[in-house]
Amino acid sequence: MALLDILKFPDPRLRKKCKPVDKVTDELREFAANMLETMYHYRGIGLAAAQVNRQIRFLVADTRPKDERGRYDYDEMTEFESAIEQPLMIFNPVIVKKEGKTTFDEGCLSVPTYYETVERFEYIEVEGLNLNGEKFTIKTDGLLSICIQHEIDHLDGKLFIDRLSPIKANRLKAKIKKMGYPDLTKEAEKDEEVVP
Ligand code: ZN
Repeated sequence: MALLDILKFPDPRLRKKCKPVDKVTDELREFAANMLETMYHYRGIGLAAAQVNRQIRFLVADTRPKDERGRYDYDEMTEFESAIEQPLMIFNPVIVKKEGKTTFDEGCLSVPTYYETVERFEYIEVEGLNLNGEKFTIKTDGLLSICIQHEIDHLDGKLFIDRLSPIKANRLKAKIKKMGYPDLTKEAEKDEEVVP
């Protein structure tokens, strides 16, 4: 397996629209494993193929909370979330149902160390293909729902910054321009943070 390079805002390649895959091949399964390794390495809870400069509709996510001993804490998850096998890997994800509204302080591995409150649908149903190329549907709310919506945005060339008010977005962009990004390898050694 190999770590992949993550594109950072304002890289224009993050703005490309991704295409569905025709078939889940061995090569794509290997790519999926590399995506997962990269996400865990940088303490992310989600990663979209667009972020590693591959314009296919694919995302990985693992939003399971951990307790202080690093074990998965299923009591902290919603009923829907705990019923879903994670890490989740979806090719060609499509939101087929969405309900309610929720907000969360989102971050992004392509905009590291910056966080802003974003509004999302609370509950979603998503169709897609698993690693075997079989169609499946998931129903979720909670952090997993927010994460999947964030990652699908990436596949459409969208970032969480685009979902802020123009004033907030401009303030954030100016801050990034001035301050830049920290060394992510060092950041990954720090305590775990929630970064979709
Ligand atoms: Zn992101």
